[in-house]
Amino acid sequence: MLNAKLTLAAHSDHQTLVKLSEQVAFGGREFVIIGGPCTVESRLQMETVATQLQHAPVQALRGGVFKPRTSPYAFQGLGIEGLEILSDVRQRHNLPVVTEVMSIAQIESIVTYADMLQVGSRNMQNFDLLKALGQAEKPILLKRGLAATVEEFVMAAEYILSHGNPNVVLCERGIRSFDNYTRNVLDLGAVVALKQLTHLPVIVDPSHAVGKRELVAPLAKAAVACGADGLIIECHPEPEKSVSDARQALSLEDMVDLVHSLRPIAAAVGRTIPEVKSLAELSVAA
Ligand code: PEP
Ligand code: MN
Repeated sequence: MLNAKLTLAAHSDHQTLVKLSEQVAFGGREFVIIGGPCTVESRLQMETVATQLQHAPVQALRGGVFKPRTSPYAFQGLGIEGLEILSDVRQRHNLPVVTEVMSIAQIESIVTYADMLQVGSRNMQNFDLLKALGQAEKPILLKRGLAATVEEFVMAAEYILSHGNPNVVLCERGIRSFDNYTRNVLDLGAVVALKQLTHLPVIVDPSHAVGKRELVAPLAKAAVACGADGLIIECHPEPEKSVSDARQALSLEDMVDLVHSLRPIAAAVGRTIPEVKSLAELSVAA
């Protein structure tokens, strides 16, 4: 049983709004979509992503610069150089950016460059990291552990909140099971449960849940329909060439089409997805 004293236990009249920027917040009527590659690979790659995704539009960009790779010999990310790329693209396109933090030592630099810090599945129960993020002055995207129960997930969020940071967004990204046809199993039941158990926004990552691009769009639709507050989806200018998670990356064109296809579903469940801005409104700094 979940501890009734939880600071994040749901109260029927309270839903936490987690602000990502002046324009974007998780947990309100507006459904929030984050798009971008698994890994920041180059300035051109991120610039192309940001430019193309204005046609969706997405409200935020993602891209890892410190990557938790299964093999120590796989590309580990661009590090600070990647943060500089993210921060430039963020400014030019006026789009907030989300990137993963793997250690306490990385918090200071990521907080300087990014708008939201992602705690990856492999670190969901890194309690020292969670406590340190409780002191950070940026919102946290907490992904569910590879095999974490709902209670363990909620308790991990509780670590961050109880150490002083109320701005936590939960992310269901699939859990391990016996069948490896899909990379993981997307637990939409947990999304509904988390919305009932806590007052935190809950978003869904269908990309890591299924691991195959052709399965991403239908599950993104299901996530909107079941009441999630947003999505985080991997996409890439040349999906097959992605340095990581190539098999699950959508093309930028497919990402734009997907966002358009979500609008009527969002409307049916009382949510909105922003419309594409007119050319005059699209402000890209020179
Ligand atoms: C990612 O978002 O690229 C990632 C590594 O996700 P997860 O921690 O859910 O595996
Ligand atoms: Mn990935």
